[in-house]
Amino acid sequence: MTHEQLADPPCTSEVADHRTFRRDEYWRALPGFADVDAETFHTHTFQTRNSITSVGKLMALLGERVDPGFYRDLADGLRHAPMAIRLSPYLLSLIDWEDPYNDPIRRQFLPLGSGARRDHPELHLDSLHEQEDSPVPGLTHRYHDRALFLTLDTCPVYCRFCTRSYAVGLDTEEVEKLHLNVNLERWKAVFDYVSGTPHLEDIVISGGDTYQLRPEHVRFIGDTLLDIDHVRRMRFATKGPAVMPQKILTDDAWREALVGVVSRGRSMHKEVVLHTHFNHPNEMTGVTQDAMNLLAELGVTVRNQAVLQRGVNDDLATMQSLTKRLSHLNIQPYYVFFHDLVAGVEDLRTTLRAGIEIEKGLRGTTSGFNTPTFVVDTLGGGGKRDCHSYETYDEENGIAVFTSPTVRPGRRFFYFDPIDGLSEEAQARWADPAARRQMMDRVLAGG
Ligand SMILES: *Cc1c(COP(=O)(O)O)cnc(C)c1O
Ligand code: SF4
Repeated sequence: MTHEQLADPPCTSEVADHRTFRRDEYWRALPGFADVDAETFHTHTFQTRNSITSVGKLMALLGERVDPGFYRDLADGLRHAPMAIRLSPYLLSLIDWEDPYNDPIRRQFLPLGSGARRDHPELHLDSLHEQEDSPVPGLTHRYHDRALFLTLDTCPVYCRFCTRSYAVGLDTEEVEKLHLNVNLERWKAVFDYVSGTPHLEDIVISGGDTYQLRPEHVRFIGDTLLDIDHVRRMRFATKGPAVMPQKILTDDAWREALVGVVSRGRSMHKEVVLHTHFNHPNEMTGVTQDAMNLLAELGVTVRNQAVLQRGVNDDLATMQSLTKRLSHLNIQPYYVFFHDLVAGVEDLRTTLRAGIEIEKGLRGTTSGFNTPTFVVDTLGGGGKRDCHSYETYDEENGIAVFTSPTVRPGRRFFYFDPIDGLSEEAQARWADPAARRQMMDRVLAGG
């Protein structure tokens, strides 16, 4: 290869971008937080007590900084949303309130009526069949050697796009949910199943969100699973570091419980790690850096699972910046998920093609071990598949078909592009049940 064929190294401003984390007092620009000092703002108690859970509370904090039309649009969006709102003061302050319509954090947490798109006709609640693959309530066992444990159903924030909106969060006008409370009897059934299933080696401890677990519950769950011989690996899943990093620094009891399980695991030659969920570079600031530095010093491995979202991170520059910033903070970018089919968030989904192109551009940006795999969690319980591994992809109608030899051999699984980007003819075919069945059958048969 000649020299000319090599891409130029990035310019210095790009380098600075991923190594610099803001430390200004951005929250003071919000009328409701103007008098809050850094010492108060950066505590988990302030963040939790002042969570924003209603339009009224948002108006009280932002006042006239935001156009009244925005609040009406938000109230309208919430009427049809599968998730109630819950936002930390930290995230709220990171939204650019000069331009809330286009802000990547606003788009993830605050639904607007004006942004709504019709749901895909093939959408079903619990599109991943997590409930059908549950041998006991709150445990999904789909892959041979690992399982997903839903410990509770609350989170420090509620994301519009949550895949588990069938269970997570408060009931809304649209959805009455399956509730998974903290319940020691239910947990015991989960532990019994895990200890009675010797091929299970890896448990994802999720929710909801493990930030919400009391420290003694973190310890109890961690120790109980560590004491099962065949369990070799576990991950505590939490969006916490992305939405309330303060807790890592100021909730000593929770952090010590986590570190205790990690250390005990290490002494038993087992792996206990934290999996988190950053989607945009703006979600990482100086306090994130402090929190991640502390976890690094304490020997906690952190990995990230992002979700590809339209208007949030569906462009190469944003995904490169996210990846480089995560790497800088010792957070390993593990997965980028294509957006699942979830009610009321069609405006956030991208096409399979869009994600494939971003992946091609991203790979090579940095070390391979810090380059995420782009995966589709296929409809109907086929599990996660590499986006490039589809069997057929009809881009005209937005239909992709995958196989899943390890999870359900011999079967085929769909993923669908959002309909609003298709041609008018294709949209008309989707609107006609007979034509729809025909297109799907044709792609299933191999194009
Ligand atoms: C994602 C997932 C896992 C973990 O899968 P990895 O590919 O190992 O991250 C386990 N169980 C279920 C049901 C999942 O959805
Ligand atoms: S933090 Fe995770 S589980 Fe909770 S609402 Fe967001 S995506 Fe869903």
